[in-house]
Amino acid sequence: MINTDDYMKFVSDPLFPEENKEGDLWFLFQDKMLLVKEEMGKINIPTFKDVKQLIDGLEIKYHLGKLKDKHCFCGEINSAVKVSGELKFITLRESAAIIDKESVSVSGKAAQIIHFHKTNKYCGICGGKNEFANNEFAMKCKECGYTCYPKVCPAIIVGITKGDKILLANNKNFPEGLHSTIAGFVDVNETLEDCVRREILEEVNIKVKNIKYFDSQPWPYPNSIMIGFTAEYESGEIKVDGEEILHADWYSKDNLPILPDKTTIARRIIDSIICK
Ligand SMILES: [Zn+2]
Repeated sequence: MINTDDYMKFVSDPLFPEENKEGDLWFLFQDKMLLVKEEMGKINIPTFKDVKQLIDGLEIKYHLGKLKDKHCFCGEINSAVKVSGELKFITLRESAAIIDKESVSVSGKAAQIIHFHKTNKYCGICGGKNEFANNEFAMKCKECGYTCYPKVCPAIIVGITKGDKILLANNKNFPEGLHSTIAGFVDVNETLEDCVRREILEEVNIKVKNIKYFDSQPWPYPNSIMIGFTAEYESGEIKVDGEEILHADWYSKDNLPILPDKTTIARRIIDSIICK
């Protein structure tokens, strides 16, 4: 096997290794909450040694791959099981701000594989029972052989500029006062650029030009990926749709509203524009 340490820290692999090692990482969930271990004020992903007692009889269990020299597994713990001591459950969103960056990435994959398993127990073609395909992250029908793969729902997210100002909007699902960039799911057979134009027009009624790719971020809540863009204002007056967006305005560096936290691509787009 080629050494990918410097190039890719995590190497995906669904095949289970022959044995469990004490230092292997276990990304365990219970009702969408991630199990973590608190050690000397630091929050880490528990190892095999920490969770030995919890993983007997897991109904959902996958090998995800290797993070450096550690095997990574995921699983779903029965709702009735209680944990104590240094172990506790926190939300995936909470964990993203406090565990190390590589573990954030693997925990997102773990959450999406478990979500995929739970939502694909039966074949969409014939209704037969699905089973894990073993050699790839897929579920295969025992009856007709149809194979389905984890679904990822792409969404665009875009920072719109007008001179040195940025358009920020308050979505009805945001906490009070929080403003962010415009975002929305890509439609069937739509280009990403058309999605950027459509979402902005629908939500705040303006037209943009110079759409440029920024970066992307997996968004495992439960199975999306955010594809980030920047765009320049072209024409129109801000008029919010009143359904999804409750308020929007142009903001400059000196009068910013409450912004999303620094772990989000939204914040990285905003910072890249206003910190110029
Ligand atoms: Zn089938």
